[in-house]
Amino acid sequence: MTKSFHKREIKKVVIANRGEIAVRAIRTCKELGIKTVAVYSEADKDSLHVWLADEAICIGPPSPQDSYLNIPNILSVAEITGADAVYPGYGFLSENPKFAEIVEANGLVFIGPKPQTLRLIGNKIKAKQVAKQAGVPTVPGSWRRTTLAEALDIAYEIGYPVILKAAAGGGGRGMRVVYSEKELREKFPLAQSEAKVSFGDDTIYLEKFLLKPKHLEVQILADQYGKVVAVGDRECSIQRRHQKVLEEAPSSSIGEEIRKNLYEAAVKFAQAVGYIGAGTVEFLYDIQSGNFYFIEMNGRIQVEHPVTEMVTNVDLVKWQFLIAMGEQLTLEEPIRTDGFALEMRVNAEDPNTFVPSAGKVERLLLPGGFGVRVDTHLYQGYKVPPYYDSLLAKIVVWANSREELIKRAVRVLDETIIEGEGLKTNLDFHRFILQTKEFKEAKHHVKLLEELGY
Ligand code: ADP
Repeated sequence: MTKSFHKREIKKVVIANRGEIAVRAIRTCKELGIKTVAVYSEADKDSLHVWLADEAICIGPPSPQDSYLNIPNILSVAEITGADAVYPGYGFLSENPKFAEIVEANGLVFIGPKPQTLRLIGNKIKAKQVAKQAGVPTVPGSWRRTTLAEALDIAYEIGYPVILKAAAGGGGRGMRVVYSEKELREKFPLAQSEAKVSFGDDTIYLEKFLLKPKHLEVQILADQYGKVVAVGDRECSIQRRHQKVLEEAPSSSIGEEIRKNLYEAAVKFAQAVGYIGAGTVEFLYDIQSGNFYFIEMNGRIQVEHPVTEMVTNVDLVKWQFLIAMGEQLTLEEPIRTDGFALEMRVNAEDPNTFVPSAGKVERLLLPGGFGVRVDTHLYQGYKVPPYYDSLLAKIVVWANSREELIKRAVRVLDETIIEGEGLKTNLDFHRFILQTKEFKEAKHHVKLLEELGY
C-alpha cells in the first residue's frame, strides 16, 4: 500500500490515543480548523481529551486490548463520524504497520509514515542493516538473526560486556546485558523465549555494550516530496531501566562539528527508509572517543518533542498534520535554536519503589511563569486510572542558559502540587536529579541513575 503523493484534505480526525498526547493533538487541530473525534475507554469517560474534542465515542472496556488497541472499534468511529484521518500519537497503535495499512485501505489518512517504513524501522536488525548500507555508524555486533554459536563468536571478537536485544523489542524492553561467556550461554535462550512471549518474535541480535554512553537523538521532519529536515537534537541520558525520565534540547555534550555529523547521519537514515512525517533517529554517543552510533528510528511523535518545540519554535504536531495533507515542508536548514529546554516526565508512581500508583487528584497546582509549559491531561478531581501508562504531566522549562534552566526547573518543582489519596508522584525524584553534580555539569550518561542506586 503506497501513499498517494497529492494533497488530501483533513476536515475531521479521530485521535486514536488518550492522556496528554491526545490533548496536545486536539489543541493543534483546533488551531488548524480540523474537527476532532476523541475515542475513550470506559475508564476514561471523564478524561480531558473527551471534554476538549468536538465529539467523543466510547470504544470499549478499560483494558487497552479492548479499547485503544481495538482496531475495528477505532475504524468504526471514523466511519460513524465521517472522519477522514486518524492521528495515532505515541504508544498504542502508533507504530503498528498493519494499523497504518488498514487505515489507508479504508480511505483514511494515517498521520504518520508509510506502513512499509513502519515495518522496516520496527525491526531493529533491518534498521541496523539500512544504517550500515547508508554509511551511518552502528554499534559493533551482529547484523542479522543470531544463533548462540554466532553470538559466542561475535562476543569473543568484540569483547564483553555485550547486550542482547530482541529485534522486535521497544520501549526499553527486550534487552539483557551479558558480562561473560558463561552468562551468554545461560541468558541467550532466556532472551529468545522472553522475546517470543513479549513480542511474538524470538529474533535476537547482539551489540557491544557501551559503558557510559549518552543518549542523543535527532528530530526529523520529512514531507511527501523527499525533503528531509533535522529539527534539532535532544539528549535523553537521564534514564531509569532504559526508560527516559528527563530530556533536554539541545544536548550540551557535543560541539558544532559532531552535531553537524549527527544531523547528516539522521537525515541520511530517514532518506534511506523513505521517511514521511515526524520521526526520531536515536544514537548512543561515546564520550571518550567522540563516536556516535545509530540504535533505532522511532516512527512517531516522541513524548519529549516539546523540548525541541521550545528551542526551535517549530510546532511539530502541526507539521505532522500539514505533511499528511500533502503540504511542502517550508522550514529552511539549519533550523535556528534559541536557549535551552528540559522536560520532566511526571509519573504517578511510588517514589521509593517506582511502582505505578492511581487515585484522585485532590490538590493540583501546576507551575507557571516565564519559560514554562505544562502538557497534561490532569485537572482537579480527575481520577488517575490504573490501566495505562503512568505519565501524568510533562513539565517543560526554557531558559537562556543551562544554568538558569536548572534553577528555573527547581523553582517550578517547588511550586507544583499534585496530591490525592493513594496518588504518588516522582516530583521529588526530579528535584534530586536536577541537583546531582553530574547533571549540573552535563556529565550525566545513561547509567547515572543506576550508579546512584536507582
Ligand atoms: P528501545 O527500542 O527499547 O527504546 P533502544 O535500542 O532505543 O531500545 O535502547 C534504549 C536504551 O538502552 C538506550 O538509550 C541505552 O540506555 C540502552 N542501550 C541500548 N543499546 C545499548 C548499547 N549497545 N550499549 C549500552 N546501552 C545501550
